[in-house]
Amino acid sequence: MLNIRHLTKKFGSLVAVDNLNLAVAKGETVVIMGPSGCGKSTTIRTINRLIEPDAGSVLVDGVEMTQLDDTGLRHMRKRIGYVFQQFNLINRLSAVENVMLGLVMGGQSKEAAYDKAVAALTKVGMEQFREHKPGQLSGGQQQRVGIARALAFEPELMLWDEPTASLDPMLVREVLVVMEELAKYRAATMLVVTHEIAFALHVADRIVLMEKGTIVEAGVPSQVFVNPVSHVGCQYKELIE
Ligand code: ATP
Ligand code: MG
Repeated sequence: MLNIRHLTKKFGSLVAVDNLNLAVAKGETVVIMGPSGCGKSTTIRTINRLIEPDAGSVLVDGVEMTQLDDTGLRHMRKRIGYVFQQFNLINRLSAVENVMLGLVMGGQSKEAAYDKAVAALTKVGMEQFREHKPGQLSGGQQQRVGIARALAFEPELMLWDEPTASLDPMLVREVLVVMEELAKYRAATMLVVTHEIAFALHVADRIVLMEKGTIVEAGVPSQVFVNPVSHVGCQYKELIE
């Protein structure tokens, strides 16, 4: 579903992503972990070209993302859901309107968009809050609306960049539960950047550890966290023990 080959991104003289290779199979949930600044966000953002890579190839379902023109990119972005740390909801719109917006802008009728938005809000347990504005919702509820906004497009690939990082500890769980359900039903292929070790341990099919722009270790959670071969892996193992 996702095949990244020799991906490189530099910011001036800093190599943020260094010749990175990663393949994710359809339906798989892969968690990326690693120290701050190791290039996790840059990797995630180059996939849908929120950041333009300098070199390398990104195939999503066989489509070369790096070669797309604006029309092609717009089309592919509809197939790729993206949830990040900031919820970026529009404050004057209700929850359901926030979810509908992208669908309507994509050319769907208001009626069809409304039905899809309510279905997506239902998936994240937020249907009863559909008329609430973001300011009337908790952080966890706002992030669940953000997830519904991505799900409304029925994405084949979901990219997550620290979706729980700006949440109160008490609210982290409700978002992780939604993510775990999505992973369990394999509705979408998921690439998740998170520092939530318990989530990685229990939900990831595979864990990828990064350091200085490259992958230093990858494997099933029991291998990576129990018998790590990399320096980063050993640090995570110590955290778990
Ligand atoms: P964190 O866990 O803190 O989110 P990260 O692994 O997501 O870290 P990135 O955001 O991918 O790290 O950043 C990788 C490196 O690239 C860092 O050294 C960062 O300072 C640098 N960097 C990221 N974006 C830019 C930018 N727009 N301009 C210059 N340098 C950048
Ligand atoms: Mg980041």
